[in-house]
Amino acid sequence: MKGFNSDKSRAWIELDMVALEHNVRVLCSMLPQNSGLMAVVKANAYGHGALTVAKKLECLGINSFGVACLDEALELRRGGIKGEVLILGYTNPSFKDTLTANRLSQTVVDYDHAAALNFGVTPLKVHLAIDTGMHRLGIAWNERESISRVFGMKGLNVEGVFSHLCTADSDKTKCVEFSLKQLTAFNELKRYLEEQGYGVKSHILASSGLMRYSPFAGELVRTGIALYGVMSREDELRDCPVELRPVLSLHSRIMLVRELDEGESLGYGLEYVSRGKHKIGVLGIGYGDGLPRSATGASVIIGDCVRPIIGRICMDQCFVDLTGLPDVKTGDEALLIGSSGQNSISACELAEASGTITNELLCRLGTRLKRMVK
Ligand SMILES: *Cc1c(COP(=O)(O)O)cnc(C)c1O
Repeated sequence: MKGFNSDKSRAWIELDMVALEHNVRVLCSMLPQNSGLMAVVKANAYGHGALTVAKKLECLGINSFGVACLDEALELRRGGIKGEVLILGYTNPSFKDTLTANRLSQTVVDYDHAAALNFGVTPLKVHLAIDTGMHRLGIAWNERESISRVFGMKGLNVEGVFSHLCTADSDKTKCVEFSLKQLTAFNELKRYLEEQGYGVKSHILASSGLMRYSPFAGELVRTGIALYGVMSREDELRDCPVELRPVLSLHSRIMLVRELDEGESLGYGLEYVSRGKHKIGVLGIGYGDGLPRSATGASVIIGDCVRPIIGRICMDQCFVDLTGLPDVKTGDEALLIGSSGQNSISACELAEASGTITNELLCRLGTRLKRMVK
């Protein structure tokens, strides 16, 4: 079996932990004093592998983690993560004992959720979601009476209050105005809580917010996408005030090479028809691995060339045009995200070519892809 690595026979992910460390460092350098990073590792750490990433981050001194649901939180605890783990989404109150037994922190999504979680003898650590205009989770920022009552609940230990910006990724006047409105509302609530003597951590910024509104960071900034060295869109990454380094690269291999004659079609639906003699490579990656079906036309690096994906993307394979590359052969590597020599393709570019944002592309990368630390 010499020279054969089944993990790398068709498609895989490589993780650059040095890049992750770099991103932590530059993001921390943007934080005001007394503010720290909460590493958002939901959705399998945006496809990177939650435990691998969280363990590395814990070694780097991060002691606060954000996840979306109870199962993700339990995965971290079972894997030995010791720091604060905040579930950013809803958990049914019937799981309160599981939450407390595992020292998890739960988001309170509204007043009724708080009331339903307020039972039993062991207080549950919670962060109270505050709605400042996104209208997703949270009690309205100006409903002071409900908010105070949650603070008074004996079955809850309110350790934090947080909100979320919904237009922080844009410099359009309308978006900046809305963000400032949200930030102001949140600050007003914070002032009220201070007056009342409620000492809590506060947080409102995620990755985009940190890039634009860092003075508004409270005690925590909930960074997800930026930790992984990218932003939701290519333009946002370009305008980033710090240099982020991508953690993830996506690799595949050419499984076979064939020639198509003029007029011959390729793959499902006869969608691609060869105009002249074409050399085609079949890659061992498809939408079953998370390569979007809409990624036809996106670029792939093969050797020191960039070639397009052609035809319809299948569940387990896709096609790439190798015309004019005489030396390319079965087994050669194809890079879908990453850099090689002079060429590079960012996750943002592949996402944009597929009509989506980086976050969605990354978190859909499938379980069939083995994650390997470089
Ligand atoms: C996912 C999420 C984040 C992280 O957002 P990024 O834009 O990836 O940094 C922060 N806060 C909440 C509430 C989230 O759901």
